[in-house]
Amino acid sequence: MDSLAGPKCGSCSAPLSAEWNVCRRCGMVQRQPSAAAEERELLHEWNMVASWAVGARGPDADLQAVVRNGLLPNDPELLVEEAERCLRYLREGQSQFQRRLEALLTRADLLALKEPVLARRAEVLRKAAQELAARDRRETWGCLGGMLAGVGLIAGLIALGISRCG
Ligand SMILES: [Zn+2]
Repeated sequence: MDSLAGPKCGSCSAPLSAEWNVCRRCGMVQRQPSAAAEERELLHEWNMVASWAVGARGPDADLQAVVRNGLLPNDPELLVEEAERCLRYLREGQSQFQRRLEALLTRADLLALKEPVLARRAEVLRKAAQELAARDRRETWGCLGGMLAGVGLIAGLIALGISRCG
């Protein structure tokens, strides 16, 4: 079988297998979905590729590219599902999903002009994202504080040592 002769990804030119609509290296979706059912199908594939990339189980999958090329659905239900999935990844420390979450919520805001229910759900998700970001900041500062205290302790001990010697 000659993989060079087969179809290639339009984005990263990795060979594509016939039964896949999403590039397993860069996550680029190879066709535009026309209906919500199709969006769901493509997102299901993309999420599989993304989970492989997160777990570094894919064939040289590039997580950053996969997340960047992630499909943004037009269906409000799918949009919320995808945003929730991003939040879960962020809670696991996969910060690459921050941008995707923002993009999804921005689209939700646009669609919410016609769908008031979506506006409320997007707001809940945005709040959760903000709380998560605030928690991360606290942890970073907590860690930094601990380091500074450690440095202070060492400096104190050295000073004590010097004063004893002197
Ligand atoms: Zn690709």
